[in-house]
Amino acid sequence: MTDLLFAPLTDVQRALESKTVSSEELTKDFLKQIHAFDRLNAYISTFEEEALQQARTADKKRASGDTSPLLGVPLALKDNIVMTEGETTCASNFLKDYQSPFDATCVEKLRNAGAVLLGKTNLDEFSMGSSTENSFFGATSNPWDETRVPGGTSGGSAAAVAAGLATAALGTDTGGSIRQPGAFCSVTGLKPTYGRISRYGIVAFASSLDQVGTMTHTAEDAALLCSLLFGKDPLDATSMDKEVPDFDLSTTKDLKGKTIGIPQEYFTDALSGEIAQVVTAATKEFEKLGATLREISLPNTELAVPTYYIIAPAEASSNLARFDGLRYGTRAKDVYGLKELYAQSRTEGFGKEVKRRILTGAYVLSSGYYDAYYLQALKTRRLIQQDFHTAFEHECDFILSPTTPTTAFQKGENVDDPIAMYLNDIYTVTANLAGLPALNLPCGFDSQGLPIGLQLTGKAWDEELLLKAGMLYQRQTDWHTRRPSLTEGS
Ligand code: GLN
Repeated sequence: MTDLLFAPLTDVQRALESKTVSSEELTKDFLKQIHAFDRLNAYISTFEEEALQQARTADKKRASGDTSPLLGVPLALKDNIVMTEGETTCASNFLKDYQSPFDATCVEKLRNAGAVLLGKTNLDEFSMGSSTENSFFGATSNPWDETRVPGGTSGGSAAAVAAGLATAALGTDTGGSIRQPGAFCSVTGLKPTYGRISRYGIVAFASSLDQVGTMTHTAEDAALLCSLLFGKDPLDATSMDKEVPDFDLSTTKDLKGKTIGIPQEYFTDALSGEIAQVVTAATKEFEKLGATLREISLPNTELAVPTYYIIAPAEASSNLARFDGLRYGTRAKDVYGLKELYAQSRTEGFGKEVKRRILTGAYVLSSGYYDAYYLQALKTRRLIQQDFHTAFEHECDFILSPTTPTTAFQKGENVDDPIAMYLNDIYTVTANLAGLPALNLPCGFDSQGLPIGLQLTGKAWDEELLLKAGMLYQRQTDWHTRRPSLTEGS
C-alpha cells in the first residue's frame, strides 16, 4: 500500500506528477482500503472497473504530457450528485435503482480536470438529518470511534476522507451537512457562498439553501478544488458570474490588519465546555497570525434553528413532489387509481424523516398557516442576514465560532428525538440562511479523543480570505494531520 491514502490532495498531485506512483496503483490501493473498511459503510456504491479505466487513461495522458490539475486523483462524491455511472440513490428506497442519464456540472468539471471517481458516499436520505443514520443503506460509522455517528448529512464523504478511502470528496450543505460531519471526523469542509458552484445535477432538497462544497485534508486542497468548481453555469440560473479568487498564499503571509468577530451568542450553555476551551485556544493561534479578536453580537442567532426548520421543509415538500411513482424510482405495485399510486409509492419509497419534513413543509405552506409560519420565517431569515451584514460592515472581516455544540454522539442517541437532532445545527444553519461561505477546520480533540472543529464564516464571495486564514492556521498547527487509528478486520 502506498502511504498516500491519507495524504493531502496537493501531495497526491505531486506524487502523480513526479511519477512516484501511477494513478492505477493508487486507485487499486484506495479500492483495497475501501474493501478493508467496508464496515464503516462510507460508500453506497463504488465503480471499480470504471475507476481503474479512468486511472489507466490518466496514466496514459500523463505519459503524453497532459498536466490537468486532477489527473489521476481518486475522489468520491456524495450520492445526491448525479453521474452516469451506477445509481444515484440519495440514500432512499425511492431512488435505489435510479440511473441518471447525465452528469452534474460539478462532476463534469472534475472529469475535465482528470479525476478518477471512485464511488458514491452515504448520506441521510435526501440530505435530511445530522448523523447519516437516516440512510436506506444503513448508518455510516465514525472512523474515530465506530460506535459513534460521523455527523450528517455528508457523513459518508467525511468518513471516506478521514479513513483514507478517497483523497477528497464532494458533499452538499443545506444547513451544515459539510461542516458538521467535517467537525465530527476531523476533515476540512467548505460550504461556499450560495451561487458559487452550480447546483445542476444535485438532487434538490431546499433550493434556496443547498450548496455543493468540498471535504478535504487541508484548506489548500479545498482551494485547489474550488478553483476548478467555482463559476457561472448556464444550466443553473442561481449560479453567479463572479471572478474565481486567487488562492495563492504568496501574497498573504499573515492576518495583520484583519479583525475576527467572536459571536457571543455562540458561546452559551448549549456549547460543551471542552469545545469552548479548545475553540478559545484556537483563537490565540489566529492572534499569533496578526489578527485582532473582537467580541461581536449576532442577536437573532436563537431564531436560526426554528427559521431553518420551517424554510427547509417548506422547500423540501415542494421539491419532493416530483417523486410520485410515475416519473422516478419506486412505483407501488397492485394499486388502482392515480391518487392511490401516488400515496402508496410515497409511503413505500420515503423514510420517516423525509415524511416528517414533507408533512411539516406542506403544513407551513398551507393557506391557513402560511402567514403564521412560512412568512414569519422569511422575515426572521432577513433579520439573521442583517445581523451578519452589520457585523461585516462595521466590526470584523470574518467570524470565528465552534462548528457544533457537541462532539460526535453515539449511534441511536438522537434518532427518536428530532428536536435534539435539529439542535446540532445551531451554529451552521445561519450561514445557509444568510447565503454566506463557511469553513470547518479541525482544531483539537475532547477528552475522549473525539475531533472538534471551528468554523470561519465570511462575507459573501470571500472564500479567499477564509481559505487563506485556514491555510495559515494549518501551517501553524497539526490537528488536521492527525488520523484515526483504524484496525482492519475488527
Ligand atoms: N441537519 C440539517 C437538516 O437536517 C442540514 C442538512 C443539510 O445540510 N443537508 O436539514
